[in-house]
Amino acid sequence: MSTAPNLPLSVVIPVYNEELNLPTLFTRLYPVLDALGRKYEIIFTNDGSHDRSIELLKAQYAARPDVTRVIDFNANYGQHMAIMAAFERVRGDVIITLDADLQNPPEEIPKLLEKIAAGHDYVGGYRLNRQDSFFRTYASKLINFVREKTTSIEMTDQGCMLRAYSRQVIDAIVRSGAINTFIPALAYSFASNPAEVGVKHEERHAGVSNYSFYALIRLNFDLITGFSLAPLQYFTMFAGLTSLGSFALVILLLLRRFVYNLDRETFGVFTLLAIVIFLLSVAMVGIGIIGEYVGRTYQVVRARQRYFVKEILETKG
Ligand code: UDP
Ligand code: MG
Repeated sequence: MSTAPNLPLSVVIPVYNEELNLPTLFTRLYPVLDALGRKYEIIFTNDGSHDRSIELLKAQYAARPDVTRVIDFNANYGQHMAIMAAFERVRGDVIITLDADLQNPPEEIPKLLEKIAAGHDYVGGYRLNRQDSFFRTYASKLINFVREKTTSIEMTDQGCMLRAYSRQVIDAIVRSGAINTFIPALAYSFASNPAEVGVKHEERHAGVSNYSFYALIRLNFDLITGFSLAPLQYFTMFAGLTSLGSFALVILLLLRRFVYNLDRETFGVFTLLAIVIFLLSVAMVGIGIIGEYVGRTYQVVRARQRYFVKEILETKG
């Protein structure tokens, strides 16, 4: 599929407590997009911010109603839900996601568009000289590795939100009913000709990251359980091996006692222990199998609308 270079563009930006970053974002982003000389829109989703973000977004809408749209959530549903809400409403044929804190420089957008114009339907950015804490950088390298092993998703940098998608990929994500919240991975699974491009990474312009250590663990657990049942399958396999091993142990003890006439004194205790271990591992297999079903059910049940839109500011398109 080749994409004409002038298709209308939608830029999607989740916003959570970014009052200190929005003014700079506006002054850097709009000129970049104006200079492209193509039709565009910017959709901001206010993800239940507690600061003045929504006032700033409303003022920006008043200033540039032609290209600005604002979705206002009633509460905080998380970055990926904020992006989903915008995806459901995009009007452009090429969609770009971007963070509001200027860690993804808006000036890099044309790089992604070049790849889209070259016929790719999904372009993932990966961060060159990442500007995050030592801990964040290495934790994210580790989780990239685990993801590669447990799911079939190949991404250099799953945490980079500067990405471009064709409308087909976005439509597929929306149709999937938001079962999985990890958008870069979901997009990857729907893309037929993905590409990656290195993009600059800057320090957070102002404020601190919205992700606590716990939130990061949750997000990555969601990613791995959302895209594969591998953890459950490994667990069941492990339990199966344990029960085989303990069964062999019981046989060995019986042989020693009755065939070789050994262990006369200690037989009772050890046999009991072996039987307990065996039963325990059988129970573990059971839990693993139940877990497998729960996991599958969970994947289906999660297909529910997970946010509530309070207000939308937009002009008819
Ligand atoms: N964000 C959001 N809802 C949240 C957390 C974050 O919409 O609950 C937005 C945030 O405003 C920013 C982007 O998601 O535009 C990335 O968040 P952040 O910079 O805190 O994450 P990090 O860069 O540390 O991964
Ligand atoms: Mg950030």
